[in-house]
Amino acid sequence: MQFRKLAAPFIAVALFASLAFASGTTGSLTADEALHALMEGNAKFISGDVEHLVANSQPARRLDTGINGQKPYAIVVTCADSRLSPEILFDKGIGEVFVVRVAGNVVAPHELGSIEYAAEHLGAKLVVVLGHSKCGAVSAAYDYFTTPEALRPELSKNLASIVNDIEPAVEKAVAVGSGKAGAEDINVDEVVKQIRKKSRVIREMMETSGVKIVGGKYDVVTGAVSLHAEHEEH
Ligand SMILES: [Zn+2]
Repeated sequence: MQFRKLAAPFIAVALFASLAFASGTTGSLTADEALHALMEGNAKFISGDVEHLVANSQPARRLDTGINGQKPYAIVVTCADSRLSPEILFDKGIGEVFVVRVAGNVVAPHELGSIEYAAEHLGAKLVVVLGHSKCGAVSAAYDYFTTPEALRPELSKNLASIVNDIEPAVEKAVAVGSGKAGAEDINVDEVVKQIRKKSRVIREMMETSGVKIVGGKYDVVTGAVSLHAEHEEH
């Protein structure tokens, strides 16, 4: 009896939630549509308007995605820095963005597996590799590798694994004299290449299922996301 009493209103709310969001923006977006939705959200965030985030973070939305499942349309690979939460800076709510975060936005097998899962099983068509200005991880790697070997500080094995993955970007930045800011940009391009190189699943989905990878950088002061030249919206 008690179950029946609880079940009716629960089902009614669930039905309402699924109807209310049946025509929502999640799922089934092409990579270009997803990129457009993210950039449009970023413009709103810059102006201080996160209306979409607020509307899509309400209990009804939580209920809908919790019961009916998630269908994120974009995968964002970014840094763990506390200043750049992808949902906030892209003005997005629950169930829209599948986020993979690690200091320095590098990709090791765990991150690659997460990206593959979201593309293959959840249907997201867009992968955004998002670096950022004033990145502590890139800065630490830059300082480490530009210090003579004998004078380098001792790093824990775990921290070293992140710093080592950023080393190619530091080397290239040093070679062209672009400094830490340049290393942040080069690191994004390196990670885009790494995903293509190390994930057969993503490579195949790029050829057959319209999956795209784009690189970009978030400015922690202005709030703006700039896409790397080869990835600009058309
Ligand atoms: Zn960072």
